[in-house]
Amino acid sequence: METLSVRNPATGEVLRELAQTDSREIRSLYERASEVQKKWALVPVKERARKLLDLRETLINRIDDLSELISNENGKPRFEAMTNEIFASIELCTYFAAQGPKILRNESIPMGLMKHRSSYLNYWPLGVITVITPWNYPFLLPMGELVMGVLAGNAILFKPSEITPLIGIKIQELFEEAGFPKGLITTVIGDGKIGATLIEHKPAKVFFTGSVATGKKIMKAASDNLTPVNLELGGKDPMIVLADADLDFATSAALWGAFSNSGQICASIERIIVHESIAEEFKAGLQAKLATLRQGSSREGNNDLGAITFEKQKDVYESQIKQAKDRGAEFLSGGSFSADRCFLRPTIVAGKNIEELDIYNEETFGPVVAITTFKSVDEAVEKANRSKYGLLASVITRNISHGEAIAKRLEAGTVTINEVVYTAGLPETPWGGVKETGFGRKHSARGLYEFVNTRHIHKPKSSLFVFKSFWWFPYTPFQYATFRQFVEFYRNSWFLRIRAFPPWAWNLLHFLKREPRI
Ligand code: NAD
Repeated sequence: METLSVRNPATGEVLRELAQTDSREIRSLYERASEVQKKWALVPVKERARKLLDLRETLINRIDDLSELISNENGKPRFEAMTNEIFASIELCTYFAAQGPKILRNESIPMGLMKHRSSYLNYWPLGVITVITPWNYPFLLPMGELVMGVLAGNAILFKPSEITPLIGIKIQELFEEAGFPKGLITTVIGDGKIGATLIEHKPAKVFFTGSVATGKKIMKAASDNLTPVNLELGGKDPMIVLADADLDFATSAALWGAFSNSGQICASIERIIVHESIAEEFKAGLQAKLATLRQGSSREGNNDLGAITFEKQKDVYESQIKQAKDRGAEFLSGGSFSADRCFLRPTIVAGKNIEELDIYNEETFGPVVAITTFKSVDEAVEKANRSKYGLLASVITRNISHGEAIAKRLEAGTVTINEVVYTAGLPETPWGGVKETGFGRKHSARGLYEFVNTRHIHKPKSSLFVFKSFWWFPYTPFQYATFRQFVEFYRNSWFLRIRAFPPWAWNLLHFLKREPRI
């Protein structure tokens, strides 16, 4: 049996040795989930939504232990674990408990020509779905998918990252403690191989959050069975700072946007594009504020920046920093690891050739931000859009309507004006990207619709309107003539439309008299 050694990334201490799920068990896990799902789908949406409030209560009861667990396994400060992961999940439960039943109720479609009939959309669960998540937000990211997934009536096989499986196990326990049926959520433990096995077993849909490279593999594998996928992938998110920005505000926004969660956020600001007239002042301000941040393990008390969670990510930092140093980039701070390599000193990098370097173009996913400048708004927009990713972009300005005009030109799933990062944790707003960041949305009504099949139901408005449609068989010359005349009513000119009425009425009369089919 293969095992995982789960470590505290800030200390290297082994937290637990864990057996991986045996890939031969996956089929029976699906079968069990399918049995549970069939019963769960019969529970009214309102009742499912009420259960989310019990889950919310459980999260509040366990908040301190959970913060501790997240901080130990992922390396982030306890405050970030509590606010950005657990509180955001409490908000998720609150929003979807209230809005879920409204979002999922039947939705009527206004009819155009066929006024005697009515149509509506009816939502029904997908079945057993698979959720695969990364290590950077090991609690909030799966909670988003699981809360929406069970509300919509699905059962879920959930694979947390192999770097943070203890939080994954805890999530299943929390749902069960809150009264959700056993087997509705099953945590599967293991690495990418077990993730791939989950997809081979044909889930109703795959919800994947992770890197572009894995996203491509997943889409390829899912295509064998035409399994639908939702992909939330990487980012290299730009922040445009306009010349009119308040510098104190802009530097504080950049500081939190680039360095919260040690920059290990898909929505982290990794590129700052600042107007050349304020660039030097901006850089000096950011540098000064960065110097006040404290970095360390959560055990050392109140730190602002935690450890680097994933050992392999350090290779990315190392190679990007080395290239930048070799090519003469200007390091305003950081650029090196702590002696034990558990922490990367928060890094600001700039310089004339910055836009040619990997550190500016490729996802870093760490406490590193690259700064460049612009002269005109067109140039800022062009620079922000010059990326294979399109998750989040931010604009900092005193002129909000000007910021909005720029926002509408940015190729991103979300643009925040005078804010950074945080809408990823808002349950009421959609989250997702364009270009190689993937597709599909999570959170909000749009996100919830990703978890259901849509059934269109079309019916007569009343039994008085049940008659054979005139386009049914058999076809006749009068039928043709009547319809041909009818098309004249679509003319742009009212004169031509009115002129078409008598011949149409005459044909219709004959049609009804000679061939009384309707
Ligand atoms: P990753 O792609 O290496 O792994 C993510 C998950 O996929 C893990 O659970 C892993 O075990 C699993 N996996 C790996 N190979 C697989 C395969 N062949 N089949 C099925 N599952 C497989 O990513 P990571 O290093 O854990 O996370 C970092 C990445 O996640 C970054 O690129 C970041 O931008 C992205 N991310 C995106 C969002 C978003 O909302 N867009 C949010 C958080 C993180």
